[in-house]
Amino acid sequence: MNEFDYIIVGGGSSGCVVAARLSENPQNKVLLIESGARDTDKFIHIPATFFKVIEKGKDVHFYVSEPDKGLNGKPNVVPQGNVIGGGSSLNAMIYIRGQQQDYDTWAQMGCRNWSYDKVLPVFRDVEANQRLSGEFHGATGELKVSDRRFGHPLSWAFIRAAQEAGLPYNEDFNGKVQQGVGFYQTTTHNVGAGALRKPSCATPRNART
Ligand SMILES: Cc1cc2nc3c(=O)[nH]c(=O)nc-3n(C[C@H](O)[C@H](O)[C@H](O)COP(=O)(O)OP(=O)(O)OC[C@H]3O[C@@H](n4cnc5c(N)ncnc54)[C@H](O)[C@@H]3O)c2cc1C
Repeated sequence: MNEFDYIIVGGGSSGCVVAARLSENPQNKVLLIESGARDTDKFIHIPATFFKVIEKGKDVHFYVSEPDKGLNGKPNVVPQGNVIGGGSSLNAMIYIRGQQQDYDTWAQMGCRNWSYDKVLPVFRDVEANQRLSGEFHGATGELKVSDRRFGHPLSWAFIRAAQEAGLPYNEDFNGKVQQGVGFYQTTTHNVGAGALRKPSCATPRNART
């Protein structure tokens, strides 16, 4: 294949989704170009061990900011995935959307279709939430969102302590209010021993990587 209808640069979270969606049509020739390697490191597939991947540095690109006044003149180092799956191969799988005011500020600055009321239906459409449904959540999309299956006693103690210190309990950080303390939901559907054998980013059908 030397000719393509679509060339997607970057096989990260968004690039893989775009490639998968475009290649649902078997007529489309889709090329997905990724600068990193395959996601073969076992720590990519074990939940919450992303710090090991960062430590090794092989699948990570470290972006370094300009010196920052707020950091006493030091630069900020931001690790990003440089591997198939991009950030989704090394993120913590916490499901938290951006906050309403940020989207609305972008809209006021000119990105009219990025206001919260425009992005909320998209969040709802793609989401398959295990527990929540309604104004803020979808139940029939492709992105499986669920509650954590294990709560460490120290986590419970932390949540209680925060409430005793005056913070409100929040059982849905993607609902009406983001402020508060509580347990976040995660995108860890089927994550377990079996997931170690599965690539985190499905190779799009009809696409070359
Ligand atoms: C350590 C860590 C923890 C995180 N935890 C969470 C979390 O718990 N919950 C959450 O929602 N988000 C989390 N994030 C953020 C989330 O993973 C990212 O916002 C998301 O993956 C960004 O997706 P993207 O498609 O925009 O970019 P990326 O997923 O970064 O994709 C960009 C891709 O492009 C490739 N690329 C770059 N330059 C080139 C080039 N010139 N040619 C070819 N390929 C190129 C990169 O290698 C990469 O694969 C975390 C991120 C990190 C790094």
